[in-house]
Amino acid sequence: MTEKELLLIPGPTPVVDSIYDALAQETLGHTDPRFAAVYRNAIKQTKDMFKTDGEVFVIAGSGTVAMEMALVNTIAAGEKLLVISHGYFGDRFIKLGEAFGIEVDVVQAEWGKQVSLEAVQEKLSSQQFKAVTITHADTSTGVAANIEELVPIIKEHGALVILDGVCATAAMEENMSKEYGAPHAKIDIVLTGSQKAIGVPPGLAVVAFNQTALAARKQLTHVPAYYCDIENWIPIMNDPQKYFATPPVNLIYAYDEGMRLVLEEGLETRYKRHEAFGRAVRGALSVYGMKALADENAAAATLSCILYPEGMDDAAFRSTLAEKGVVVAGALAHLAGKAFRIGHMGNTTEEMLEKAIGLIGETMNELGFEVDIKAATERFNELVSVRGAV
Ligand SMILES: *Cc1c(COP(=O)(O)O)cnc(C)c1O
Repeated sequence: MTEKELLLIPGPTPVVDSIYDALAQETLGHTDPRFAAVYRNAIKQTKDMFKTDGEVFVIAGSGTVAMEMALVNTIAAGEKLLVISHGYFGDRFIKLGEAFGIEVDVVQAEWGKQVSLEAVQEKLSSQQFKAVTITHADTSTGVAANIEELVPIIKEHGALVILDGVCATAAMEENMSKEYGAPHAKIDIVLTGSQKAIGVPPGLAVVAFNQTALAARKQLTHVPAYYCDIENWIPIMNDPQKYFATPPVNLIYAYDEGMRLVLEEGLETRYKRHEAFGRAVRGALSVYGMKALADENAAAATLSCILYPEGMDDAAFRSTLAEKGVVVAGALAHLAGKAFRIGHMGNTTEEMLEKAIGLIGETMNELGFEVDIKAATERFNELVSVRGAV
């Protein structure tokens, strides 16, 4: 990898050389059959990853565009959306829904916790929702959603399940052919972006619709969007030599390579690797007296929100660490200054994370917190070597 810095923020994530090489290929015309073949393969690989028999959309945009596509193509103005939120990105669906005149209701978790299943049950029983959004891994809190429990409850009530996988896809299981308890209890839409656990530079919105979600689009008489209307994209996704709006040719090359790497590693292997990374990073940092915001059994495999020990100066910590070549992110909202966020996803390696643990230790020592780097590194190596044990 050619990076000078270890970019351990919750996306964008480190980009490997073969993806940079793909990105730097000559820009072909967007309807050139040679480019169309790459685009077609990128779409096919995305379908393979989600194991969907529906349609996937890979278009220019960030994760937020993917969120918007999921909502506008399934829920009409005046219809009801239930947002299940365990943080900042869950809450983003409230704003999005409101922007389109959708009636939004919310079940919020305390930051660091998962939502209460009883609260979700209660909301779903009280009225009929068209769809429910779940944030698979909330990037503000490092909390993973309990989708094993949530999906069956939602499907029992007949609502569409929209899963925000922006910080999870390709690192945490999102299998759209999986039945959650009953034959038709499946995740209907998964949406994501290119720059997080897929490990491609930012710029692509990726959305998968199953047949139920596609049928929901068909039933809408008006979609308050043009670029984000999936009807405009379905012909292109089925034949990328057709034109609707110019795709980001070079990013598609990069994404196709990124997806090749994901499938080559193998989904199961990749999920277990991420679990191990998450556990090992949190375990090692706890040796330094730094605790994750999320309980370990609710912690995301892809990123962690880590509370500082008493007296740590956020700006000093992150700038000293950055001088050593490790970039982590600050915390959001009321946790700003009290915690930092570290990504451990995508094509990030064990070596990078071990190095980061050492440099975080050095930073703490320099700032006057006496920590044992050797013990933390040992803890990291011990935990990271156990794959699939949980
Ligand atoms: C990053 C993120 C988003 C927003 O994605 P952008 O690419 O910044 O638009 C949405 N949801 C989650 C869970 C995220 O982590």
